[in-house]
Amino acid sequence: MRQTLVIANWKLNGNTALLKTMAEHFHHVDIQEQVDVVICPPAVYLKTAAVLFEPTGIKLGGQNCSEHGSGAFTGEISAEMLSDIGCSYVIIGHSERRAIFAESNEMIAGKIKQAQKGKLCPVLCVGETLAEREANDVESVIREQLETALVDADFDNLVIAYEPVWAIGTGKTATPEQAQEVHKMIRDWVAKKAPESAQKIQILYGGSVKADNASTLFHQADIDGGLIGGASLDTEQFDAICKAA
Ligand code: PEP
Repeated sequence: MRQTLVIANWKLNGNTALLKTMAEHFHHVDIQEQVDVVICPPAVYLKTAAVLFEPTGIKLGGQNCSEHGSGAFTGEISAEMLSDIGCSYVIIGHSERRAIFAESNEMIAGKIKQAQKGKLCPVLCVGETLAEREANDVESVIREQLETALVDADFDNLVIAYEPVWAIGTGKTATPEQAQEVHKMIRDWVAKKAPESAQKIQILYGGSVKADNASTLFHQADIDGGLIGGASLDTEQFDAICKAA
């Protein structure tokens, strides 16, 4: 049985007050044993988060890391640095990074390598745009994203998040059947690359997950939890999503 994983992606939101509220809440609420919870606040809050969340069992992750290990790369943060301040995970290749910051599949491959080298578990985001879905290109787009990002990757230290771009922050969610179809395709793809890892790897769904749709999505055969954006900023809502797992 795969452990359910729920990851909060705060994006460019939140502050110390929200960290305190969230940590206080989860200090008193028991997270079920079968669920792992990870919070990815903006990088400047990670150190504070490491202290505040320590008693809760919630793990921490970065929202991005550099494809370089060190050097003259002003403004960048390395995987090793994230690991050094207490992170266990890092989100790589989020569609906002791909679209707004022009991250290519090749850059993303470099980041995956750095993350694994830095002892972090990368959460690789893949997903198609609405135009690609309407052109029946879902499978080829996602295969290409997987093939290029995961060259030489360690499949035993990896999470994949299927995030249809048209569902992120839009209030439109993939139906459980649509999501399951893609998740199965991803697991089948992993089975060809790393047969031993296919049944172990956690594949998360992301895209307008809320308290009221989380349970049906998470109970699909190949959906092992969620990557949560907007709803992860609301303590009650995020708590309900964790409990739906
Ligand atoms: C995300 O940013 O990864 C995401 C899934 O956002 P939202 O839940 O707001 O759609």
